This record gives sequence, C-alpha cells and structure tokens, in this order.
Amino acid sequence: MQISLARQVALVTGASSGIGAASARTLADAGAAVVINYHSSAGPAEALAREINANGGHAIAVGADVSKEPDVERLFAQTLEAFGSLDILVANSGLQKDAATVDMRLEDWNTVIGTNLTGQFLCARAALRIFTRQGIRQGVSRAAGKIIHMSSVHQRIPWAGHANYAASKGGVDLLMQSLAQETSHQRIRINSIAPGAIRTAINRDATEGAQEQKLLELIPYGRVGDVEDVANAVLWLASDLSDYVVGTTLFIDGGMSLYPRFRDNG
Ligand code: NAD
Repeated sequence: MQISLARQVALVTGASSGIGAASARTLADAGAAVVINYHSSAGPAEALAREINANGGHAIAVGADVSKEPDVERLFAQTLEAFGSLDILVANSGLQKDAATVDMRLEDWNTVIGTNLTGQFLCARAALRIFTRQGIRQGVSRAAGKIIHMSSVHQRIPWAGHANYAASKGGVDLLMQSLAQETSHQRIRINSIAPGAIRTAINRDATEGAQEQKLLELIPYGRVGDVEDVANAVLWLASDLSDYVVGTTLFIDGGMSLYPRFRDNG
C-alpha cells in the first residue's frame, strides 16, 4: 500500500541530518511539501531541498533555532508564505550535553532543556495556532493537523550521566499527552516517537567499533536502528492510516525498553 500525503505541508525541525533528514525525505516521497529546518548546517539542508525538488517534490530549507521564540515564529511564517498551509509538524530537533550531574554546568542543562523541551513547546504552540485557524482541510486529511514529537526511550529509561537529556524527554512525554488531551476535540492528533539506538551523529561514539557490541547487549532485536526505521513511523503517524491514534508514544527501539537484562531471570 502506498501512503499519500499529496497536498499536505510538513515542517520538520532539525532536518539537516539524521532522523530529521530521513523523515523529511520520506514525507516528500509520499507527496508532502516539506520545510527543512536547520540550526547551523545550511549546506546539507539546502542540498536535501534541491534533491527533493529535483525529484519532482517541493521543499525549502529554513534556518531557525527552535529554542528562540522569534526564530520559531519566523520559521512558521515562512512556511505559510511558501506553501500556504501546515498539516504536519515533526518536532525533531534535539541534542545532548552529557556530564555526571556533579559536573554538569547550568549552561548545559539549560541548552538541552531549551532545545529538547522548550523548543518542542514553541514549535507545537506555533503549529496549534495554525491548525486551529485552518480546521480540517476537506479532501486533504481527516485531521485538522498532526504533531509528531521526537522523544526517546529515555522518556522512560533513566540515564545516568545524561540527567538533562532524560529530563527533557520525560518532559516531552507529558507535554505531548497534555497537548493531545487539550486539542484532540479539535481533531488535532498529537503523538510521540521514542527511538532507541539509531545510527546518527548524536550517538556516533556509541554505535561505532567496539562500542557497538556493548550497545547491542541492550537491544534484544540484535541490531542498531537505521534512520528509515524512524522515518517510516513518522510517515504512518502523519498519515490518515493512524487517524485513531492520539496521545500515544510509539517506541521504535528493537525492544530496548523491555529491560533486556532481565531476560535471564534478572
Ligand atoms: P542529529 O544530531 O543528527 O539531529 C539533531 C538535529 O537537531 C540536528 O540537525 C541539529 O542541527 C538539530 N538541532 C540541534 N539544536 C537545534 C536548535 N536549537 N534548533 C534547531 N535545530 C537544532 O541526531 P538524531 O539522532 O537525528 O536526533 C534527532 C532526534 O531524535 C533528537 O530529538 C534526538 O534526541 C532523538 N533521538 C535520537 C536517538 C538516536 O539514537 N539517534 C535516540 C532517541 C532519540
């Protein structure tokens, strides 16, 4: 079955690399016009937009720091200017600034919370304002808008040495559920994806060489995930195939959240 997002507009934050880039490409392949947000890497974002346009799709690259309110407002205004509407937000931007808590600088705490949690709030708020104004676009989608928050297995699994990151993703979980509770009567669908270990820049140290073997002990399914594993879930959550899915988190983790160390009786 082919999923079509024809006549829909998607905005993907942090889409110059990794999961965001794969999601933007997959949504464009399904027919959506795509806004590729980037933070500092204009080159890869513009190259991806060129690739999508050369393949007959519609894409633009827009720089914005999702932790900054004026940037986010401009990002959404440019989306409407370019494509006239918004149907799908993939709030994907995220980063890590790891340290044992005793050594963690307030600046690194604030940067992670600012991007991973406040950034998701600012983008979701901007999208909701548009969805509410727009309502259901007849013949385009059954929903008045869809938001997909990129969370992590660490919304559930505590993570020593990464307290800022785990706190941000735990926050995303209840942000997502609260927004879904608040807006689903308007036929707005909000869900999260919680990836496990996906091979991208964010975790290169853990997924390469000898470290990969150690990581695999935590993944019952026996392989590190690819960005397409997540992008395919983004596509499904963005489409009407998931029209009755509201306020839930889809774990894409090869079983990482199943406490694999308990497999042999703990
Ligand atoms: P990545 O580093 O390739 O992508 C993160 C993107 O976020 C980058 O493009 C970066 O430029 C962007 N970004 C960072 N700060 C930003 C800001 N202030 N404004 C706008 N964009 C900003 O890594 P990824 O693995 O593709 O990560 C994407 C998302 O997936 C993140 O939210 C991450 O927490 C989540 N995630 C990844 C994994 C994994 O194993 N790779 C696992 C769980 C969750």
